[in-house]
Amino acid sequence: MPTDRVLHEEKTFKVTALRQGTVIDHLRSGTGLRVLQVLGLSQEGTVAIGLNLESSKLGHKDLIKIENRELTKEEVNKISLLSPEATLSIIRDFKVVSKLRPQLAGMIEGVLRCLNPACITNHEQVKTRFKTLERSPLRMRCVYCELAIPEQEIELL
Ligand code: ZN
Repeated sequence: MPTDRVLHEEKTFKVTALRQGTVIDHLRSGTGLRVLQVLGLSQEGTVAIGLNLESSKLGHKDLIKIENRELTKEEVNKISLLSPEATLSIIRDFKVVSKLRPQLAGMIEGVLRCLNPACITNHEQVKTRFKTLERSPLRMRCVYCELAIPEQEIELL
């Protein structure tokens, strides 16, 4: 990693170096706490969160560092729904071993709530299923009732 990058990171968010775990970066400002909720805090390692940090890319951003944890596919999908620009870095032995910007899956199951009160998923024990129509801005369509949900109305289960 180039020195100027390191200095920049230290200036913007100096909480703790991570030996092992995941850094979720470039979260939209205001989504960090929601993402933490989604991930749950019932785990052993340290969790560090930075809110409303300065970002050259986004203006402001949130950032989360989670020790001793790599995310499941479902968790990554949820993060993509809350904050499509998020990047994930996997850290091992203080080094970034992989960095990715997850792309939301084409079909999302059991994560989103359908906003149509008459939809079967709001009345019966049916797992919700949404097709990803567009990724930026997000548009998701319920497979059962065909309601399209725009990004600003998305609700996670
Ligand atoms: Zn529906």
